[in-house]
Amino acid sequence: MKFLFLMVQNVTVGNIVDIFDVNVKIAITDPVYPVYLDTNVMSGRGGNFNKETGMYENIVYLPVNSDNDFVPELPKEKVDVIYLCFPNNPTGTVLKKEDLKKFVDYARENKAIILYDAAYEAFITEDDIPHSIYEIDGAKEVAIEFRSFSKTAGFTGVRCAFAVVPKSVFGYTKLGEKISLNKLWNRRVATKFNGVSYVVQRGAEAVYSEEGKKQVRENIKYYLDNAKIIKDGLKNAGFIVYGGVNSPYIWLKVPDGMKSWEFFDKLLEEANVVGTPGSGFGPCGEGYFRLTAFGTKENSIEAIERIKKVF
Ligand SMILES: *Cc1c(COP(=O)(O)O)cnc(C)c1O
Repeated sequence: MKFLFLMVQNVTVGNIVDIFDVNVKIAITDPVYPVYLDTNVMSGRGGNFNKETGMYENIVYLPVNSDNDFVPELPKEKVDVIYLCFPNNPTGTVLKKEDLKKFVDYARENKAIILYDAAYEAFITEDDIPHSIYEIDGAKEVAIEFRSFSKTAGFTGVRCAFAVVPKSVFGYTKLGEKISLNKLWNRRVATKFNGVSYVVQRGAEAVYSEEGKKQVRENIKYYLDNAKIIKDGLKNAGFIVYGGVNSPYIWLKVPDGMKSWEFFDKLLEEANVVGTPGSGFGPCGEGYFRLTAFGTKENSIEAIERIKKVF
């Protein structure tokens, strides 16, 4: 199998939209990492925004919430591109192989492309969870996978990431002509970017050294320990919580009758703790709230103590 690995920065998953036609139909989960939606809206694929529903008319939304155990259903209509992110930001949840396979099968049947964002792969702790979409049979014909050093090795400000574009992945023109996405992406990167600086690449290389691997593992364990502290603490306080096991994010249901932003205000003003309102990630995020484990252990413990005093 031949891959094209291109080192890129500034949200690879945002730049990929350049290789698709303006009329392709996009599906995203709801809630979602806002970059997928906003980059498509900026490149003209959103259509009108409906203020009532909080949705763009040309985007297909796949709800993920406690009703479906955070497993998105397949699109009911034909779509051309599907964004999937697992372990998920913001919900912290994962997909099992059989659930991911349904999407790969859909993509093969419908000539769709899956854009698989594996930015949080390093946080997977459970055995049966796929680390890459290429673990699924047939994915090499329909999926592009995104990897980033941002969360794995604390490169968020340093900027280094890559896309895996198998040479066996093709898009189709309106007349049905097969087009290599590997070639299109190569052209896009060579024209608009030209690559991550050498200094940063050497830093990224060190992540794969024995010492680098060890430090990265320790660092991720530290954040996963925080996630456990936050998750267990919230559970003890009576909250319904998701994520936090294969992810640095904890996704909690806000108390009955409250909106995400009302919970944000109460948390800020009474507990002096800051988090992210779920509604900011899409209409289905309403009534949920995201807490992050990317802090110190001391602050994670302190935050939970304060939350317990208020709720
Ligand atoms: C942080 C994050 C990324 C990484 O983006 P970079 O531009 O590589 O820093 C990608 N996807 C998701 C869902 C993220 O949360």
